[in-house]
Amino acid sequence: MLTQAPKGTRDILPDEIYKWHYIEKVIEKLCKCFGYKEIRIPVFEHTELFQRGVGDTTDIVQKEMYTFPDKGGRSISLRPEGTAGVVRSYIENGMASMPQPIKLYYNLAIYRYENVQKGRYREFHQFGVEAFGSKEPSIDVEIISILSMLFDRLGLNQVNLNINSIGCPNCRSAYNEKLKDYFKPSIQQLCFNCRNRFEKNPLRIIDCKEEQCKKIIANAPALMDNLCGECLAHFEGVKAGLENLDIKFSIDKNIVRGLDYYTKTVFEFVSEDVGTQGTICGGGRYDGLVETCGGPPTPGIGFGLGIERLLLKMESQGIQIPEPSPMDIYIASIGPKADVFAQNLVYRLRGQGVSADKDHMAKSLKAQMKYADKLGYTHIIVLGDEEIESNKAVLKNMKTGEQKDISVDSIIDRMKNQG
Ligand code: ATP
Ligand code: MG
Repeated sequence: MLTQAPKGTRDILPDEIYKWHYIEKVIEKLCKCFGYKEIRIPVFEHTELFQRGVGDTTDIVQKEMYTFPDKGGRSISLRPEGTAGVVRSYIENGMASMPQPIKLYYNLAIYRYENVQKGRYREFHQFGVEAFGSKEPSIDVEIISILSMLFDRLGLNQVNLNINSIGCPNCRSAYNEKLKDYFKPSIQQLCFNCRNRFEKNPLRIIDCKEEQCKKIIANAPALMDNLCGECLAHFEGVKAGLENLDIKFSIDKNIVRGLDYYTKTVFEFVSEDVGTQGTICGGGRYDGLVETCGGPPTPGIGFGLGIERLLLKMESQGIQIPEPSPMDIYIASIGPKADVFAQNLVYRLRGQGVSADKDHMAKSLKAQMKYADKLGYTHIIVLGDEEIESNKAVLKNMKTGEQKDISVDSIIDRMKNQG
């Protein structure tokens, strides 16, 4: 137990962290181009926020949340997605009275009690974007275009965009009745959860992953075929906007998304090869959510993208992420006097922005050289009492093998100019 991380969690180790930094940088630059600012929210919130915001008939709230009472007796949950917390922050911080739209992004750890498999963990990370205040199809298109540009910048192929519209409460209430009529004769064949959903939220049945339900769902009427005039026009606007940007898409009438708050546009980017966990990213419009969570009526739209799945996908396509540059210089030393000198020199080098290191294990010179070679320093210099006294030493460039006689005094200037 002590030496094993909890199931579904993993360490991101120092030799792979550069991949995360790379993606985070690409995201940061991209979001800046689109005018989205970063927001950081707490890891935990009041459970009620997710019950209301995500919806208490969803799999996330019913089966996947990490919920516990804190010492003060409040029910707390680890965030199982990012949107509800961002919505809470939007309301709490009075963003509704600032110039709209408010455009935000985040990179967050997310917690869900799931069946762990490749691409499916209990702690994972999402890059998410939320735009509040606009009901125009153009913002739906902008949100989707962030993703298509992200995949472009990362050099990722074979990620297909599927879109759908799940309408508004108006078209949905008529549709829910149709759905009930459809499911009624087979209600006994549905899973336990879906039998409960039948009265409360029949639309949610469509998203059920149980085999027994999937068979029945296959022929259910689609919401897309039952949209009201306004929702239909909005969807047409989104399609035209995507075409305007030359973003390819397919319409998938079965996307309803796993969260209750969605309205109108919903979409997913699905890859052909992250095993069964093919969905890299999902999102949609949530025009009722801010109000549901206690704020003023405010349209909104966003998405969440799984970074682990993105990395798996990049790996499977052989996309090379640029590795970080190695350390600049290793100061090997012989004897206690040189060691003291080396510590001082390394400190001054670091002060000038040079990445430098020395031995801390009382290693022999041979062992120091082996270590420096293994860690891939670009330069090595060996200092003994003689070098320090004569102010002369040999600087070795490990990339080219070139050796240069230099004065010890000049190391800092030389290394500074290595760039
Ligand atoms: P799935 O159908 O695969 O369970 P979801 O619909 O529950 O996905 P969302 O809630 O839309 O997923 O989350 C957005 C993205 O977060 C997903 O597309 C996926 O890339 C990622 N994601 C979701 N759950 C996990 C998980 N348990 N482990 C890793 N990534 C995940
Ligand atoms: Mg899920």
